[in-house]
Amino acid sequence: MKTFICKKCGKEFESPGNYAYYCVDCRAKRQTERTREYKAKKKNNEAIKGVGQADICKFCGKAYIRTSGNQKVCDNCREEYNKKSNQKPHDNYVSRNYDVVKVYVKKGERAKLKEFAAQCHTSVNEIVNYGISLAVKEFSKSIKEEK
Ligand SMILES: [Zn+2]
Ligand SMILES: [Zn+2]
Repeated sequence: MKTFICKKCGKEFESPGNYAYYCVDCRAKRQTERTREYKAKKKNNEAIKGVGQADICKFCGKAYIRTSGNQKVCDNCREEYNKKSNQKPHDNYVSRNYDVVKVYVKKGERAKLKEFAAQCHTSVNEIVNYGISLAVKEFSKSIKEEK
């Protein structure tokens, strides 16, 4: 058991875990608060996104009542709309023309590379590809030397 100080009421309390922020009482309170916050947020979102409100279908132009947050078309057009929006020509182009190579780098290297790439006005992808071509040249040299 470890002793922690409750973030909410400041009381000392014991808990078997490595991390504990709230005492038992406050944890329960915190949970209800969270649920309330979540519900309020959800309600808000729905209000913003206009669930239950009338809208005009982007497909057929008819008026309909929204039943979900991101709805853009009426129920009649939904199927067709989903079909069309699921076609991603870019993705298809990429998967047709490129293979993906996964490269693992040390923690933090990726962000550094990204920053560096931005400074050079290029992309991480470009840098990695260049690195690969250099490495292939180097390694093929050593193959020749071995012979
Ligand atoms: Zn507490
Ligand atoms: Zn429609």
